[in-house]
Amino acid sequence: MAMADMGGVRVTQIPPSVVHLIAVNLEYAVLLCTKPQCRHAQAVRGIEEHLRRFHHEKPAIRKEAVEFGRALVKWGERFLYDYTVVELPVNGLAPQPIVPVVDGFSCYSCCFLTISRAVVRKHVNKEHLRQDKENNRIFGQVRLQSWYGPKRERYWVVDEGTDGIGNSAKRALEDAAKGSNDVAKPHMKSKKASSAGRPKLLRRG
Ligand SMILES: [Zn+2]
Ligand SMILES: [Zn+2]
Repeated sequence: MAMADMGGVRVTQIPPSVVHLIAVNLEYAVLLCTKPQCRHAQAVRGIEEHLRRFHHEKPAIRKEAVEFGRALVKWGERFLYDYTVVELPVNGLAPQPIVPVVDGFSCYSCCFLTISRAVVRKHVNKEHLRQDKENNRIFGQVRLQSWYGPKRERYWVVDEGTDGIGNSAKRALEDAAKGSNDVAKPHMKSKKASSAGRPKLLRRG
């Protein structure tokens, strides 16, 4: 089902008995566990086991969740994702609701993202053959989200400005108007701009 179609179709309402436990991100077709200690995606197929093992929910609640999951899949095959294929937002948008935003690092030479400074250093040294002293110019700090939690993370970069790309673009224009032309550079996709060390660069779409 195309994304455009989804907006016009009324999805089954989340049953009241599980509305405190699960939510759906309709744009990306992702089922989320909203328990404070989770706030991440679950595969529709795995929701029953997740609610049983991690939250000790009663069978009746689990059944409601499973039936809701079935309705989602019937409604759109995109809900048959797992962590390896779930669609990620492009870098640079405003954060998705519910999912935590965390500190991370981005390699400026490729699309590599991680929450570990040690891992990004290792990546840069191994993949781009750079020496330690140059590292601060080829990776930078960013804010990240991932649909899934530990061990299944796949990150994208978020912009916590009020309206994502639009807001940052506006800021860059304002900065450019003030005569600070190196702020406008990140919007050009040149190699030179890519090593300037600014998170704005990561919006490669
Ligand atoms: Zn959970
Ligand atoms: Zn890289």
